[in-house]
Amino acid sequence: TLKGKTAVVTGSNSGIGLGVARELAKAGADVVLNSFTDNEEDHKLASDMSEEFGVSVTYIKADMSKADECRALIDKAGKCDILVNNAGIQFVKGIDEFPVEKWDAIIAINLSSAFHTTAAALPKMREAGWGRIVNIASAHGLTASPYKSAYVAAKHGVVGLTKVTALETAQEPITANAICPGYVLTPLVEAQIPDTMEKYDMSREDVIKNVMLERQPSKEFATVEELGGTAVFLCSDAAKQITGTTISVDGGWTAL
Ligand code: NAD
Repeated sequence: TLKGKTAVVTGSNSGIGLGVARELAKAGADVVLNSFTDNEEDHKLASDMSEEFGVSVTYIKADMSKADECRALIDKAGKCDILVNNAGIQFVKGIDEFPVEKWDAIIAINLSSAFHTTAAALPKMREAGWGRIVNIASAHGLTASPYKSAYVAAKHGVVGLTKVTALETAQEPITANAICPGYVLTPLVEAQIPDTMEKYDMSREDVIKNVMLERQPSKEFATVEELGGTAVFLCSDAAKQITGTTISVDGGWTAL
């Protein structure tokens, strides 16, 4: 059980972040939800989750594209025993046409934010005498696809940062690992379908089966609950000696 631990999950008002936050709350952790918005729904998400699982859940607005806001999130969270770096965006275009501002935003949100939150969280974990860092990388942290230069570069960077974090904390009761999901049907993936349909002149069904799940041998999307379960496992005592590594949840993608 994670009772008494506080988990900060970046980018958690949707998709995988929300799924991971829910599984951590179900396992007894208090949770800090985050995104860059500050809507009524964001705070309602927190109060509903608190009621559902009987743990404390708060929502803190912070834009993960900004270094100072990343650090302020950890500051405002109070405790941070579990840090899940999940916030991420995608953009698909050939390198020669890739907009510079999209490159910069993806590197900032998908990679640099994890550096800033980790830097701010480590002193808290050291003081608490326990810590778990779970970085949500991607199958694209281990392999590449065309037209996703910034995303693939950022996710490979996250895997590298995870290894360095693990080495710097190797003799402490702190672990750092990366989860590498294959395709999960979340709003991020949903948003890629129209572009891909246009690029390949394909129907929605063909894009899902022949483009997205083409590299996922299971031919099934992974679910946000499965990713949450993997994060809970990495926070368990059984995973104490698991550090500096990646766990693929990709239906066999990286075995190909
Ligand atoms: P999503 O779009 O549903 O969720 C992304 C989350 O990040 C949202 O909560 C969004 O509000 C938040 N976010 C975006 N920009 C932000 C910013 N500037 N500051 C703070 N929060 C911000 O997408 P998802 O599929 O759930 O993706 C979550 C993570 O999982 C990403 O890092 C993504 O790269 C990774 N991932 C997703 C898949 C997949 O198939 N869905 C596969 C591999 C890896």
